[in-house]
Amino acid sequence: MVVPYQHEPFTDFSLAENRKALEDSIKLVEADLGKDYPLIIGGERIMTDDKIKVVNPANKKEVIGYVSKANQDLAEKAHQIADETFSWWRKTKASFRADILFRAAAIVRRRKHEFTAHLVKEGGKPWKEADADTAEAIDFMEFYGRQILEIDKGVEINSRPIENNRFHYIPLGVGVVISPWNFLFAIMAGTAVASMVSGNTVLLKPASSTPIIAHKLMEVLEEAGMPAGVINYIPGSGKEVGDYLVDHPRTRFVSFTGSREVGTRIFERAAKVHTGQKWLKRTIIEMGGKDTIVVDKDSDLELAADAITYSAFGFSGQKCSACSRVVAHEDIYDELLTKVATKTKESVSYGDPSAHDTYMGPVIDQAAYDKILSYIDIGKEEGKLVAGGKGDDSKGWFIEPTVFADLAPDARLMQEEIFGPVVGFTKATSFEEAIDIANNTDYGLTGAVFTKNRSHLEQAREDFHVGNLYFNRGCTAAIVGYHPFGGFNMSGTDSKAGGPDYLIHHMQGKTTSEML
Ligand code: GLU
Repeated sequence: MVVPYQHEPFTDFSLAENRKALEDSIKLVEADLGKDYPLIIGGERIMTDDKIKVVNPANKKEVIGYVSKANQDLAEKAHQIADETFSWWRKTKASFRADILFRAAAIVRRRKHEFTAHLVKEGGKPWKEADADTAEAIDFMEFYGRQILEIDKGVEINSRPIENNRFHYIPLGVGVVISPWNFLFAIMAGTAVASMVSGNTVLLKPASSTPIIAHKLMEVLEEAGMPAGVINYIPGSGKEVGDYLVDHPRTRFVSFTGSREVGTRIFERAAKVHTGQKWLKRTIIEMGGKDTIVVDKDSDLELAADAITYSAFGFSGQKCSACSRVVAHEDIYDELLTKVATKTKESVSYGDPSAHDTYMGPVIDQAAYDKILSYIDIGKEEGKLVAGGKGDDSKGWFIEPTVFADLAPDARLMQEEIFGPVVGFTKATSFEEAIDIANNTDYGLTGAVFTKNRSHLEQAREDFHVGNLYFNRGCTAAIVGYHPFGGFNMSGTDSKAGGPDYLIHHMQGKTTSEML
């Protein structure tokens, strides 16, 4: 019996002892920077000459490490090993696989601050965000471990006097897991371990800007008893290794979290049936969002302004759940805008995330920096800049928290995903119109509504078309097991990470019927 799932509590950094613990861990991580990391294929460590140089986004000169890069030959070798390993891994007991996750979660929990400190450096995450990322990685392991035990109990179906019928889920095969840099620990770990605990073997290709945390997860899983070949660690270029693995006829499924551009490309490529392929590949794809907070005329504006500020600027707006649009009722528009602009200028301190009181750190890399600044230029044409607007990439990739007002609902700033600390405001004349505007994007990931009007909440429950809808709170920070996470439309396949049927997407149902 396992104890019921509970999510990992966040660390209270207002306590001096917790601050000291993380400060000490940051020093330890700093002393350990610049190492070489090998690929891990079938348990074997393989160093390559071609390396990914991983830098701290807050300080480009600080090299976090050099990670060996897979090429197609190594990807092929890893695929063959994953395929061979699957032949016996698929028959292991669910409890054996779940126990690996429970032990791995315990290891990470014991060394929590060390992981969090690493995320501060590799991901440029402020303390609070890094701590939440580590907690979520633990949560995914605890939650999916329990979920496979539930699935293993089987599902009731009817038998008859003349026949005995059974129904249960079996794994799919070799999965390619391509993970993002924004939740570099949580989503990487969540997608990899969900695939593995369901009885599949895995080729893990983490984001090229943050591959080291995935190497650390591999070490944890090995320590927790995961056999060689079950998850294979193969960082590499998307074009060279990613495409090769997605196209591979022996790939059974692809689990991807990242941009719409790459997600749709994977979806198309995975649909093609290659010579020698015996199945239709499964895809689990989570992409972007253009997430809206709707603020009604009758609402707590202070609460709404705090939620907008945090949802827009927590981790520099680099969450697919981040609030990038606000639709406010015309009666309260000016007051809300002033509150958000003031909070943005006065309370969103931004700078080096290694310091404990930094609210917002850098963006991830030069490409992100350039893209966000180009959207800020577009915003200046389309609307009115009321806060922020500048960047500085001399040391790291820093962009001010930025607020634009008076945008048209169909402005590019209100339609296209920026993935940075930029939020745009638009006005609605009624609640109905506000919901229409909220729905008028290609996406459908998260959204929030602030109102004291019960019937408006009920209307939003029916009509606001997003996978994660929140009432009177911000639109980020879903918790595993409490807020199954995933979106509609161009946000992805709505597979609901941390939800009750997530693992089923990695499995297939088998019916056995025996005549008596
Ligand atoms: N689950 C995260 C949240 O609710 C966002 C995940 C993502 O950015 O991919 O904020």
